[in-house]
Parts: sequence; structure tokens; C-alpha cells
Amino acid sequence: MENFMSNLNKYAELVVKVAINLQKDQTLVINSPITSVEFVRAITKKAYEVGARYVHVEWNDEEITKLKLLKAPEEALKEFPIWKAKGFEEMAEAGAAFLSISASNPDLLREVDPQRVAINNKTAAEALQNFRRYTQTGKVSWAIVSVPTKEWADKVFANLDESERVNALWENIFKVTRVNLDDPVASWKEHINNLRGKLEYLNNKKFKKLYFKNHSTDLVVELPNDHLWIGGGLKNEKGNEFIPNMPTEEVFTMPLKTGVNGYITSTKPLNYGGQVIENFTMTFKEGRIVDFTAEKGYETLKKLIETDEGSHYLGEVALVPHKSPVSDSNIVFFNTLFDENASSHLALGSAYPLCIEDGGRLSKVELEERGANTSLVHVDFMIGSNDMNVDGETLDGKLYPIFRGGNWSI
Ligand code: ZN
Ligand code: ZN
Repeated sequence: MENFMSNLNKYAELVVKVAINLQKDQTLVINSPITSVEFVRAITKKAYEVGARYVHVEWNDEEITKLKLLKAPEEALKEFPIWKAKGFEEMAEAGAAFLSISASNPDLLREVDPQRVAINNKTAAEALQNFRRYTQTGKVSWAIVSVPTKEWADKVFANLDESERVNALWENIFKVTRVNLDDPVASWKEHINNLRGKLEYLNNKKFKKLYFKNHSTDLVVELPNDHLWIGGGLKNEKGNEFIPNMPTEEVFTMPLKTGVNGYITSTKPLNYGGQVIENFTMTFKEGRIVDFTAEKGYETLKKLIETDEGSHYLGEVALVPHKSPVSDSNIVFFNTLFDENASSHLALGSAYPLCIEDGGRLSKVELEERGANTSLVHVDFMIGSNDMNVDGETLDGKLYPIFRGGNWSI
């Protein structure tokens, strides 16, 4: 127990000092499920210790969300409290930092009609569109971190005795976020430096095309001319570094919207809004999905792809080595924040404007003109494996190995 509390406090410190990198006199907004109160209190304490001006907590409860999705009239699913969206925009404009605590039950919405979930998700995405620009363009500091729930631990560690599952999930979260090391803050600095080396290589090469190939994927991804690889940390408008995802092992950029051809097969389950999609394939022609299959969750995948025009295209291509703390844990987390860091992946939907030069300043129309995809959704799905090879082709047609057998070869 003592050890657990010490790790919990180290985790809170890592989140405040490294992930969010909270500055003196800055406001911190925390979005959290009510089940994570202990962790939120630890974070709040740390935040005030480093000089927070005010810590605002937005509590939510997924059981209540589920009740709404099951019982509310359909009209209500098309409504979103505008004052709330405006409030977020206001706090972002004033330079607040935003932390989301994700603690979910992967099967929460199993019995909810995917159509109702889709309407609800779309409504929220539309209402929060302006706010999302602050985070997507890195104007403000933001981060997502995760803590266990009982249902989540039950799913991940069904093989363990019931009384051990939540602890096992905590242990693994501490491991993959490097909290269990003596000096997590220092080891994160080293890790981020390492990622920076990969970014430098990729940004110098300015690859025109990437080739992904393994036993079940054969995909060519063209990149826009001025694409940028990013990863690890980002800098906000004021020049303060923050790390949006913990754990993070990826470097990523945007594909040319119309330059994706071939097919992929997923290598991990995808938990989308409380519904799990498994063993799916997609075929792309000139960027657009022309065919897809799923052994499980087909309807959910279909709804996701049909959200809008942009959700038929890709917005992210990310390289993640097969050898990483997340991947070494050999655990399927049923949670994208973790699973995406165990595997190279792609994302359906909008591209991060920061993945193209000057992208943060471009309008939606200008982004599309530069080859970036725009959409209401952005959903990562995993295609990496221990037999994944990735090659890059430069403008002059030369090929360079980037990944061999699932790991960096640069
Ligand atoms: Zn990603
Ligand atoms: Zn993503």
C-alpha cells in the first residue's frame, strides 16, 4: 500500500511536471471520471505545489453516460451544452492547460445501439470543434493519461484472481509510463531525446512514400511535400514543452489524403467509444476506403467510417517499434492510449495540422489544399507486428529501410 501511494504520487508528479509541464500561475483543467478521485486529488495537490493558479475539475461518470445513451430521447443525443463548449474555449483562450484522465470500461456500451452512440459522438465532436483546434494545433498544453477501472482490469487480466486484477493493471501502467523507475522525470527526458533522433532522421530524409509490408498488410502511403514528423513532446504557443500522451513511443506524420493505396489488417482490437472492433481489414484506393471487413464490431466500424467524408480517409501514419515497454508487457490493453504505443498504426479521420509546415495557421480549406485530411473524428488503429518492414522512398527514388522485423533500423 505504501509502495502504491508512493507510485501514485510519482505518477501525479510526472503528469504535472512533465506531461502537462504546468507553469506558475497557470490554470489546470482536469477532465476525469469520478472513479479516479484519489489520483485527481494527488494531481491537484502537485499542481498547487508547482504554483497552479486554479485547478478546475470536470467530473464525469460513464454509467450516467450509458444511461443517457440507452434511455434519452434521440433528439437529446443531438444536443450538447453549448455553455460547456464555450467554457472550454474560454479557458483555452486564457492559456489554461488541459488534462484528461481516461479510465474506462472497454465493454461499457456493448448493449447500446451503435447508431445512437454515433449520433452522440458526432454531436460532441461538432460542439467541441473550436475547442479541439486549441489542442490539435498545440496552442495550449494538454495531455491524456490513464488509470485502471475494475471493469477494465477484469477485461485485461481475466486470467488472474479477481482480487489481483486492478493491482496488476496499476503495476503495468506504472511500468509502461516509467513511473516505477527511480527517477521517472529523468528517464522521460532521455526517452524524449531518443525519439527526437528518429524525428531528425525522418525530417531530413523528407520521404515521398512509405511502404508497409508484413504477412497481412501491404500498403503504400504517400506523404505531402511539406510534411513534418512529430512525436514525444510538443511546444505550445508560449514555447513550453508538453507531452500529450503518456505512455508515448510513436513518431508520426500525416499521409497525403489521396495518396494511400493497398490493404491493411489490424493487429490489435480497437475500442471505439465503448465498443470493441476486432480483426478488421481495410482496402484503400487513392486514399479512400473502398472495402472493409471485421470479424467483430462490423457495424461500429461501418458507423465510424461513415461519420463524414473525411472519415473514409487517413489522417495519421505512426511508427512504433515492436520493442517498447508497452509492447514488451505483451498485454492487450483494449485502450488506444496504450495499444497505439505497442504498434505502428494509422488513424482514420483528421490529420494533425502540426504535421505540415505552418499547419497550425491554416484554415480547414487550406489544409485540404495542402493534402491534409479533415474530419470530425480521429481514431487510431494498429497494424504493426514483429514482421513489419517499413521502407521510405526519397524524391529521387532511393529506398531506405526504416523498420525491419517490427523495429527501428535507423
Ligand atoms: Zn498515434
Ligand atoms: Zn492518433
